[in-house]
Amino acid sequence: MALAALSISAFAETQLDDRLRVIVWPPYQDETVQLMREYLRIDTSNPPGNEMAAAEFFHRLFEKAGIPNTVYPYAPGRANIYALIKGDGTLRPLILLNHMDVVQADPRSWRLPPFSGEVLNGEMYGRGAQDMKDEGLLQAMVMLIAARQHLPLKRDLIFLATSDEEVNDTGSAWMLENHPETVRGAEFLITEGGTNLIVPGRGTVYEVGVGEKAPFWLRLTATGRGGHGSIPIADSAPDRLVKALARVVDWQPPIHLLPSVEQYFRAIARLEPEPRAAQFRDIRKALQDPAFARSISRDEEYNFLLRDTVSLTVLHGGPQTNVIPDAAYAELDVRLLPGEDPKVFLGQLQSLLADDSIRITSANRFKPPNSSSTETTLYRLIEQVVHQYNPQAIVAPALCGGYTESQMYRPLGITCYGFNTLEVTPEVDATEHAANERVPIEQLRRGVKILYELVARAANE
Ligand SMILES: [Zn+2]
Repeated sequence: MALAALSISAFAETQLDDRLRVIVWPPYQDETVQLMREYLRIDTSNPPGNEMAAAEFFHRLFEKAGIPNTVYPYAPGRANIYALIKGDGTLRPLILLNHMDVVQADPRSWRLPPFSGEVLNGEMYGRGAQDMKDEGLLQAMVMLIAARQHLPLKRDLIFLATSDEEVNDTGSAWMLENHPETVRGAEFLITEGGTNLIVPGRGTVYEVGVGEKAPFWLRLTATGRGGHGSIPIADSAPDRLVKALARVVDWQPPIHLLPSVEQYFRAIARLEPEPRAAQFRDIRKALQDPAFARSISRDEEYNFLLRDTVSLTVLHGGPQTNVIPDAAYAELDVRLLPGEDPKVFLGQLQSLLADDSIRITSANRFKPPNSSSTETTLYRLIEQVVHQYNPQAIVAPALCGGYTESQMYRPLGITCYGFNTLEVTPEVDATEHAANERVPIEQLRRGVKILYELVARAANE
């Protein structure tokens, strides 16, 4: 029995390999580049978003390919779009999730207009070219190619493009509240949060986003007696606030090493010279050495992976130099690691402030941080497919400092990864949310192939 089952699955695998081999890629790659330009020309700056135009763009593509799809308008000018290619149902669905909105762009600081899709030196310019119209378009292309190639599927293949990720997440929130059936039962989800950085002289690191830190924004308010600036008040609101803040900025929350972070350091160890390489290979042990713990805590690139962090960002006192105000406040951008309890953090902060008269209030809508395991079929396939295209690349699980929508889908029992198939230099990567955002055309051509291959395999095992 076991032998028979094995040979059937081996047979299915060869069949899939054959199907992948016969695809004639150049026309699909040309189409990817052409559609990328069209997509970048749709202005979905948020606010206000106007993602309806982008949803209609995808709608037209899916209609032409005969892929069942639904546009869900939910506010003026705003919509989500959902498309589905049915599998045979033996495995749970795979979701390709992307957001259609982009952050605003000031054309004065751009080399080429931000909604032009124009090309310079082999790179296509446009707001969203990195975040995340590139990934969204590749996901749509994968749907189109799967339909045209009649890709056999053991899982439903779902495409979901949402509105408003950059501001309030109303798109995904509306979808999950009003149409939870569209994603119910899914096993895997691929979205933004992965970056593949070409580290000059060292190699390429494919960071697969497996978790995000959760923003836990706080406002600290001190109140006291106000008065004339010429007559100092020893315990004025600004004075007490500044004294308490001094203790906060000197504070490092304790190190808490997550398994995925440990795995990340192990994976990137070979990029480091000795003795750091050895320390990264066994970071748990290395952190027991206070000197190493101090030195890595000073490294901005790594510190935030190891602990909850606090950045002092807003300071507000009086409106006039000669007036001692009766209130002053500061805001802290606190980021909690997956698994952390905000109440415990608050307790630590309160004892640190050592001033009960300072009121702590929440400055955002807190969503508990979460993460996904790397012990899955999809993670293994990501490693396998990446190495097929770039045998030297390092694939490492990454904890995002920023927020992604994965956080909203994980509580539904879905394993969510931030995975991207484009390799970028640090220079191109830095254009995300900045001027001259762009994507190398060769990477689009290569990226569509890699994503298709990954999805084709993941949808069949
Ligand atoms: Zn994004």
